Amino acid sequence: MRTRRRLSYLPTMSCRKRQKTSPDKTSDCFDSLPDDLVLSILCKLSSTATSPSDFISVLITCKRLNSLGLHSLVLSKASHKTFSVKAKNWCDSLHRFLKHCADAGNIEACYTLGLIRFYCLQNRGSGAALMAKAAMNSHAPALYSLAVIQFNGSGGTKNDKDLRAGVALCARAAFLGHIDALRELGHCLQDGYGVKQNVTEGRRFLVQANVRELAAVLSAGNNKRPWLTWSHQPVPHPRLRSETGSGCPLLSDYGCNVPAPEVHPASQFMSEWFDIRGGFPSAGMRLCSQSGCGRPETRRHEFRRCSVCGVVNYCSRACQALDWKFRHKAECAPVERWLDDDDEDVAGENDGGDDGVMMVDS
Ligand SMILES: [Zn+2]
Ligand SMILES: [Zn+2]
Repeated sequence: MRTRRRLSYLPTMSCRKRQKTSPDKTSDCFDSLPDDLVLSILCKLSSTATSPSDFISVLITCKRLNSLGLHSLVLSKASHKTFSVKAKNWCDSLHRFLKHCADAGNIEACYTLGLIRFYCLQNRGSGAALMAKAAMNSHAPALYSLAVIQFNGSGGTKNDKDLRAGVALCARAAFLGHIDALRELGHCLQDGYGVKQNVTEGRRFLVQANVRELAAVLSAGNNKRPWLTWSHQPVPHPRLRSETGSGCPLLSDYGCNVPAPEVHPASQFMSEWFDIRGGFPSAGMRLCSQSGCGRPETRRHEFRRCSVCGVVNYCSRACQALDWKFRHKAECAPVERWLDDDDEDVAGENDGGDDGVMMVDS
């Protein structure tokens, strides 16, 4: 539909050009369209764009579409995939575009630019403010990202950790159905981390996280291959698929595997941003080992590490739980250990509802 609609303008454009060169002024179909109508079409286009090029190709068509395309009404409705730009293409004009969208009230743009400023450009104040603006509009990923910042005291010192604020933000994101937040909250309740311990309630949130994962797969209509399998083997993260040559199943906490959720473009951007820089945010700092996350440390030893191997580091319990299922379970300890050994380090695996291994401060 979008392509047809966009293409339908192309003849009118050529008609317009002809008008300029032709001495006899024929009627110009495009110019006769009222701005309101063009704006409403552009709003529909920006809200359903599946890539930046969907939108940019319209902006570069002519002056009028460029001007109306950058109208605040159109920018406020742009879909998050309109911003799914590659980190290698980052430039001032892209930064300005995201800022225009955020100023126009686009909540996804607030979140995306907030994450980029906070973590990539290290502009903590404005980054957090943009995420807060999105969070105040009930943007679940922004609420969860602010929770991670509070849990870690990101951008500040260890004393700036505010576990209770982290749990409160996480609870709001979980209420909105954010899977990572549900999982994080579940682990916080099970461990008594930032909240009074309540193992049963924690388990309930972990069940909800799994149910929502499954619902996301079903609604995506992924029926090209068996989407639900049982496996006691760890499964790789989608980003590692080409390296391992196997599928991408997951349903995390119960040994039942479904395909992994889509990585948010903002997280994808951060992963690429630091990949380009050699995988390190700066000297002595590390990235979250969950490869779909992209969050870096903002100070040394900010993230917690795996208590068994001490090799991997995570920004959150949710990332740790996810990475354990995808990848780290196979790497953390010799296979015979986690199959045969029921000691406390791996105790959670057998009860069907834990992340399998503890984290400790770095
Ligand atoms: Zn993470
Ligand atoms: Zn480990």
